[in-house]
Amino acid sequence: MKDDILKVLITEEEIATKVKQLGKTISKDYEDKNLLLVSVLKGSVLFMADLMRAIDIHARVDFMSVSSYGSGVKTSGVVKIVKDLDINLAGYDVLIVEDILDSGLTLQYLKEVLLQRKPNSLKIATLLDKPERRMVDLKADYACFTVPDEFVVGYGLDFAEKYRNLPYVGVLKPEIYTK
Ligand code: 5GP
Ligand code: MG
Ligand code: MG
Repeated sequence: MKDDILKVLITEEEIATKVKQLGKTISKDYEDKNLLLVSVLKGSVLFMADLMRAIDIHARVDFMSVSSYGSGVKTSGVVKIVKDLDINLAGYDVLIVEDILDSGLTLQYLKEVLLQRKPNSLKIATLLDKPERRMVDLKADYACFTVPDEFVVGYGLDFAEKYRNLPYVGVLKPEIYTK
């Protein structure tokens, strides 16, 4: 698996440091609130697992799964809820936990859907931000790293469902896409 990686963009240590910092910030910002972390499966599982442990105030967690149709490199812009939340959002300060904010289409759609359920507040925390590719006017409230316009894998992010278990974020060798 490691032989498929062209270069490491963000190391395990860099991720650990940033996620701990973010946990502290969120703990302060949500001290007097009713925090509900909403992880968007599957890409955000590692980020969610580390982030929730870095948060030292009461927090609920829930999971949802969306699909943007297709397992390839590009987002189609059409989003489908594959698994919905269990918790009713009324009364919660919801923080969406995402792997990457790329075109922004997925999160824009999710935000609209979740806002209709009348949470106290709704914000976005993303591990990675790829601002060059944005197609809608959407910013993350919390972002750990800005990445260049390259397709990245690892630490939850996949290519055709592989590489999620890499402990760092890296770029694949071009021949992997063309196999
Ligand atoms: P969007 O383009 O809607 O902002 O991103 C939708 C989803 O596409 C992300 O949540 C992520 O699952 C996937 N995605 C976007 N950019 C990348 C990338 O560079 N690498 C990987 N592995 N997935 C990506
Ligand atoms: Mg995602
Ligand atoms: Mg994917």
